[in-house]
Amino acid sequence: MSRSRGTCCIAGGGPAGMMLGYLLARAGIEVLVLEKHADFLRDFRGDTIHPSTLEVMYELGVLEEFLKRPHQESRWARARIGDEEIVLGDMTHLRTQCRFMAMMPQWDFLDFLAEQGRRYPTFHLRMQTEVTGLIEEQGRIVGIRGNTPAGPVEIRADLVVGADGRNSAVRDCSGLMVEEVGAPMDVLWMRVSRRTGDPDLIAYSDRGRALVLLDRGSYWQCGFSVPKGTAEEIQAKGIEQFRAGIVQLAPFLLDRVTELQGWNDVKLLTVRVDRLRQWYRSGLLCIGDAAHAMSPVGGVGINLAIQDAVAAANILAEPLRKSILTNRDLANIQRRREFPTRITQRVQALIRQQVGGSLDASGPRRLPWIVRLLEHTTLLRRMRTRFIGVGIRPEHVKTPDIWTASHIAPPT
Ligand SMILES: Cc1cc2nc3c(=O)[nH]c(=O)nc-3n(C[C@H](O)[C@H](O)[C@H](O)COP(=O)(O)OP(=O)(O)OC[C@H]3O[C@@H](n4cnc5c(N)ncnc54)[C@H](O)[C@@H]3O)c2cc1C
Repeated sequence: MSRSRGTCCIAGGGPAGMMLGYLLARAGIEVLVLEKHADFLRDFRGDTIHPSTLEVMYELGVLEEFLKRPHQESRWARARIGDEEIVLGDMTHLRTQCRFMAMMPQWDFLDFLAEQGRRYPTFHLRMQTEVTGLIEEQGRIVGIRGNTPAGPVEIRADLVVGADGRNSAVRDCSGLMVEEVGAPMDVLWMRVSRRTGDPDLIAYSDRGRALVLLDRGSYWQCGFSVPKGTAEEIQAKGIEQFRAGIVQLAPFLLDRVTELQGWNDVKLLTVRVDRLRQWYRSGLLCIGDAAHAMSPVGGVGINLAIQDAVAAANILAEPLRKSILTNRDLANIQRRREFPTRITQRVQALIRQQVGGSLDASGPRRLPWIVRLLEHTTLLRRMRTRFIGVGIRPEHVKTPDIWTASHIAPPT
């Protein structure tokens, strides 16, 4: 058993955990991020780097470097609903440094955050370390238990942060109460090659089905939504029928769906929407999907995870540095982020109904008249764009870069 100690120990190297680790290390706090996988090179969910996340990069002074990484810039997001096309988002009106959404595979994004974090001597990232339990003493969480290829570990810290996503082990072990919001769908996730001249629509919805296409350069990352719990039934009907369902929504994929040769090429991602009643207890805080699992609708979950991390770092940096952290600080983080979370989950449900319609519907999809009317005004479009691109209550970096402030060059 290996034992160690630090100021802040973060379970999970996803967008929330990596951003929080980077911000705290930049502010001079000893931070250890534990990630169960060996690398970031996996099919994470979603590649969307929102204008608000790009704004955070700008505030951190790393935007230019970030945008040197291969990415696509998406200023408009358009969708086909039934036989009508609507603009889901028009980023060109946003008042942000970047008026576009950067589409970048999440492994590149996380690699970038890790690279930035490593510039600071107080940042530590341990891969292949799976958190399996919490250490509790006299009602306070004082550390985590985990497994590594070299054997079990125990890490003690002033604060443990659960940023380990929707199936968070930390929250399972914490005893914190989960409120299920419910998600009516799951997603089948697969790749189909992309060709020059393909339509640039990001979503297709009709007859109770929806297909989302994320541009990853040489291929489309496709998400096909199905009513919750019906994946097995769909599989039983055979891959041919599934391919036909895709082509019905996006006919231009006709000559490529055969790339899906069997169910091994299609991954089931279960969607879950929930939130913790209380995001913290003494010595422990949950953020990102661990505090509130988000549905894929609108592609806003990564944004929310990043915003949680920025808000948490703003509130935690000072008390962690001075070792005066109290439950009140943790409560302040929940107070700041709970409202945006609740509203976002509610709006996601609304958009899903508006754009996706009933998942059981078999007839052609038509937008409700009120939506059709509003689509002709810019109001709905702008509201939707702001919701997707910036979110509710955007956060700004207030933590210092102590290495720059104290004129110490961080080691390269
Ligand atoms: C099908 C689907 C598609 C989506 N598409 C989008 C999209 O396009 N855009 C968007 O913004 N959002 C999307 N979302 C939502 C988005 O994926 C999440 O909201 C976001 O990733 C949350 O970030 P996070 O850092 O909180 O958690 P995660 O991204 O889940 O990261 C958690 C990290 O913790 C690690 N981990 C897990 N357990 C442990 C453990 N026990 N010990 C150590 N490490 C652990 C994981 O390996 C992972 O690296 C989608 C969701 C789904 C289900």
